Amino acid sequence: MTQRKPKIGLTPCSSMKDYEEAVREAGGDPIELSNSDDPLAVLGGLDGLLLTGGPDVEPSQYGQATHPTTKVAQDRDKFELPLTQEAVKRDVPLFAICRGVQVLNVAEGGTLTQDIPSQVKTDLNHAVNVPKTHQTHRIEVTPGSRLAETLGMTGASDTCPVNSRHHQALDQIAPGFNVSARAPDGVVEAIEKPDATFCLGVQWHPENFWRTGEFKGLFDAFVAAAAKRSR
Ligand code: MN
Repeated sequence: MTQRKPKIGLTPCSSMKDYEEAVREAGGDPIELSNSDDPLAVLGGLDGLLLTGGPDVEPSQYGQATHPTTKVAQDRDKFELPLTQEAVKRDVPLFAICRGVQVLNVAEGGTLTQDIPSQVKTDLNHAVNVPKTHQTHRIEVTPGSRLAETLGMTGASDTCPVNSRHHQALDQIAPGFNVSARAPDGVVEAIEKPDATFCLGVQWHPENFWRTGEFKGLFDAFVAAAAKRSR
C-alpha cells in the first residue's frame, strides 16, 4: 500500500526555502499558498498548515493603536487570520513560526506586545538577524509540554539555545492555549493548545536549522500529525 506524503500548506513569505526544506526533511509535501486563496476552501486540500514568519499583525486586530515601530502586512492578515481560525476549529495540525505564532495568538483572541525594546525590561537581544542560525538566547521549556516531548526533553528544568529575530512578543495568551516556553526575561517563546491533535507555535526560527537538525523533532511531530489525516 502506498501512502501519499501529507500536504503541508505554507503561508507565503519572503524566504520560503528553509520552511520548505524543513517540511521535506520531515516527510511532508510543502505547498505554497497564496494570499488571494479562499482561506476556508484551501484548507480542505491540506493535511497540515504552517504559518511562516514576516511583518507584524495589524494592531487593530487585537484592539490597540499602532506603535511607531510596527510594520503591518494587511494582505497577509486578511488571508491568515480566518485561515488560522478555521484550522483550529477543524483541528487541522498547525505549526506556527515567528509572525505565525503572533497570528495564531491574535486569531484565537490573544494580544501582542508591539515593541520589546521599549516595552519589556530585558537584557536579552531578541532581534539578531544574521547569521540566521546564531543562537542568541536560551529558552526555558515547560516540563510535560508537547514542545518538551517533541524536543526529547524529560527533565524538570530543560533549556535550549534558539535563534531570535522578533521585535514583538505575545502578551495576553489566547484562551485554551498554554505557554510552553519562555526566555529568561519572561518573554513568551512558544504556546500550544493541549487538546488539539497538534497546534503549536514558536517565536524563534527552527526552520533555519533543517541542515543540522536541532529542531527536527518539532517538524517530525507536526508532519506525523498531518500524516494521520492523509491516510
Ligand atoms: Mn526571542
